[in-house]
Amino acid sequence: MREGVQYSVIIPMYNEEAVIEETYRRLAQVMRETGERHELIFVNDGSRDRCAEQIRSISERDSNVKLIEFSRNFGHQIAITAGMDYAEGDAVIIIDADLQDPPEIIHEMIAKWQEGYEVIYAQRVQRNGETWFKKISAACFYRILKLSTDIDIPVDTGDFRLMDRKVVSQMKRITENNRYVRGLVSWVGFSQTAVYYVRDERLAGETKYPLKRMLKLCMDGILSFSYKPLKLAVYAGALLSGSGFIYLMYVLFMTLFTDSTSPGWPSIMSVNLIFNGFILLILGILGEYVGRIYDESKGRPLYIVRDTLGLNTEQSARSA
Ligand code: UDP
Ligand code: MG
Repeated sequence: MREGVQYSVIIPMYNEEAVIEETYRRLAQVMRETGERHELIFVNDGSRDRCAEQIRSISERDSNVKLIEFSRNFGHQIAITAGMDYAEGDAVIIIDADLQDPPEIIHEMIAKWQEGYEVIYAQRVQRNGETWFKKISAACFYRILKLSTDIDIPVDTGDFRLMDRKVVSQMKRITENNRYVRGLVSWVGFSQTAVYYVRDERLAGETKYPLKRMLKLCMDGILSFSYKPLKLAVYAGALLSGSGFIYLMYVLFMTLFTDSTSPGWPSIMSVNLIFNGFILLILGILGEYVGRIYDESKGRPLYIVRDTLGLNTEQSARSA
């Protein structure tokens, strides 16, 4: 066995008491099979249930189990960021707490890592037991994101992945607030490859990503990796004023050279609505960017840790 920790597994959890013991059991089994030193870092993202107590009692019999407790709910993306800040392993694995990501895939990831790849992300070839709305909205989102950014962010890929220490060290230098972690991992680069899997149903409990949070994640993904929404204003503005001009010419022609009295009101009204709606939309997009600039300018810490268990607190540069 080696001296340091070889594998760190990060498990963000928010009200996961219904599944967490089973998750631990399956993960511990897989990690034991690797035969290397490892740590399981559970990040309690301000849960209101007993999942953190469950982890504490598991840690009494398994010293590989570690815990980061946030002072409140900071969100999934921040929770995995904190996990990376504290992880000590040569390879760091991120996995959901609800067993939608099968832990057994970690073996395949490790095999690729040993081949020399530095990021191994798990791409879903199929999703079981999720609503059609979630499937369709997710499929659309990943494709819109792909179209709107120049960075190659793989489609149908969540945060379930393995990263080499080199990648994690670079990730720790990124300070931005509204994070889309999987995009940032693509952004840092290194040699990346995929393993494929079928995403299962949640073992128990319900999704912690209601529509509002899904939209926030989409916005973070698109807005933090692309200026294209801003350019929309330029193109659409040109198109709209171009067609407005043509229409004006037509109206002038009709009044000057024909007898037809143009009724007017409906066309004015519709043009008015289209333009005003459009201006509001563009203002909203601008507002989103400005809000993000504001967030960055405040320079607040990404998260606040109430307590940790079994972790080297000096390791985390950010939490200092
Ligand atoms: N999660 C979290 N903080 C949150 C929301 C979710 O740490 O504010 C965790 C959650 O416990 C789970 C993972 O993030 O381990 C993914 O959440 P979920 O399974 O609810 O999302 P879905 O799979 O439905 O997209
Ligand atoms: Mg899930």
